[in-house]
Amino acid sequence: MAEEGKFKVSIDGISVEVAPGTTILNAARQIGGDIVPPAMCYYSKLEGSGGKCRTCLVKVSKGSEKDPRPMPKLVASCRTTVMDGMEVENITSPEVLEARKSVVEFLLINHPLDCPVCDQAGECKLQDLSYEHGTGHTEFEFAKRTFERIDKGDKIQLHMNRCILCYRCVYVANQLTDSREHGVIGRGIHSEISTYIEKALHNDFIGNVIDVCPVGALTDRTFRFKNRVWFTKPVDAHRDCPTCSGKVTLWYKGDEVLRVTGRKDEFGEVEEFICNTCRFDTKQTTDWTLEAPTPVDDRSVIAANHYYQFNPPAVIHTDKKLQEANEEQLARTERLK
Ligand code: SF4
Repeated sequence: MAEEGKFKVSIDGISVEVAPGTTILNAARQIGGDIVPPAMCYYSKLEGSGGKCRTCLVKVSKGSEKDPRPMPKLVASCRTTVMDGMEVENITSPEVLEARKSVVEFLLINHPLDCPVCDQAGECKLQDLSYEHGTGHTEFEFAKRTFERIDKGDKIQLHMNRCILCYRCVYVANQLTDSREHGVIGRGIHSEISTYIEKALHNDFIGNVIDVCPVGALTDRTFRFKNRVWFTKPVDAHRDCPTCSGKVTLWYKGDEVLRVTGRKDEFGEVEEFICNTCRFDTKQTTDWTLEAPTPVDDRSVIAANHYYQFNPPAVIHTDKKLQEANEEQLARTERLK
């Protein structure tokens, strides 16, 4: 029985109790780990986001305690709210995994495979998604649509070829800045992100479009081609900023701060949006109070060459072979210190 005022939902066999109105995706985020559906367009800090990319499709095998019928089709977990007694399948459903492969293939219809030269490589959500759920082939035989790169002001560049039309940047401009100057124009295959008569994006806080863009469509012109992200070292820092929280991640190469971004959580979302002054105009270490190295997910290429203290497992195996392996691991850790 769920606690009063809560709904009990099971996702891949793991139960969680959440407030009514919570979406399946957010219920899964409360559990955490591999059962959390991927999301390319949903962004919890941007109102109205979600429901566009279909990456987070899941199977509802039991609708609710009152009406246990399964839902007839896979549903977008970012837009479907939970019911009491609902049972959801994500990574335990072959149907979902198969559908996700098709969604990745669909997202890649027009997206170029230029990861080796793309500034977003190493922190691109589409790259991760393709790696985890892609098929390695495409049935799309037509030429991809292409656009010229456009400088949106002196700080941001739009490379429309890579855009997957998730609308996150439009919500950022709508909700964080004083005046929105860009949006999606055209329909269907002609849809594109554009500013009205190529107007530059210059509002304060507009730099956040770079952080929320899941691919390399909107990039930081002050960082472009300066380095590969896995050669940089992220460090959490803060400053007393009159405009925003001033809590950022500094990306170092040696002693030089190559770029400044908002801090991201485990789901790749910015924790607090930062202003343009913090992002573009304060790139000296003396501008900041340094806190600690930014924790990096082990699975990310950014973790390459970043060593942390290894904590050996508490369980000591009695089996001789495992015991030896354990000792070898401990010795290796000692050598790394
Ligand atoms: Fe999404 Fe980036 Fe395209 Fe904007 S430019 S719609 S954030 S993919």
